[in-house]
Amino acid sequence: MASAAALGWGKGWPRCVKDEVVTAIVSDLRLPVRRQIVPLVAGLVLDLERSRGRPFRRDWSWGFACRAISGTRRSSNHSQGCAVDLDAPENPYASAATHAAPHDLRKKIAGRLLRTTMPDDVVAIAERWGFSWGGLYTSKPDPMHFELALTPGEAAQLITDLRDLDGRPPTSEEDDRMTALSARVDAHALVRAWYELHSPKNMSDVAGRAFWVNKIKGLTDPAKIDAAESEFAAAARR
Ligand SMILES: [Zn+2]
Repeated sequence: MASAAALGWGKGWPRCVKDEVVTAIVSDLRLPVRRQIVPLVAGLVLDLERSRGRPFRRDWSWGFACRAISGTRRSSNHSQGCAVDLDAPENPYASAATHAAPHDLRKKIAGRLLRTTMPDDVVAIAERWGFSWGGLYTSKPDPMHFELALTPGEAAQLITDLRDLDGRPPTSEEDDRMTALSARVDAHALVRAWYELHSPKNMSDVAGRAFWVNKIKGLTDPAKIDAAESEFAAAARR
């Protein structure tokens, strides 16, 4: 897998640049990551949570860390803010033999036995948002780990593309709504708006509404929550 350094995100450990790292507030998580990839991280986390039906734990999940890959002197993609670890204790970095041993959390996923709580479609979700999944490492799977597989230019292009609907350009109404949302709330609104447009089912049923209202509350300050909830309610009525 290409390192973040090779993809153009800077050298990383031991010369980490923290200036470009911000805290992405996604669901219950507080993940320090590269500023330019916040919408991709938000989409990854929300999609994984939705698919597996429960949130990740804040005290078990992290992002930027100025360090080498464990047991090596090579820069970890965490040191450029291009990787996140989710629910680490339940998705251990361990040998293939350890993963394959009988365990309550062991499951067959992507054709291999892994100790993990990621959903069955974890690989497809990771790819959709531009990440590769550490659970696919052969000698020492790392299912908590997701790292960006895109150059900065590709990441920017993907964020732009996500504003389209499965390849078709948004209608002018959709475009206006997304532009207004992203300008008024924050980068997360871009992701939320994308969901509104792609998953109308989740806007109309009670569980779906509660899910998204909780996301909004976790994301922004009171004034922005009010604005986002109004927009959300208006979208749900359509
Ligand atoms: Zn990691």
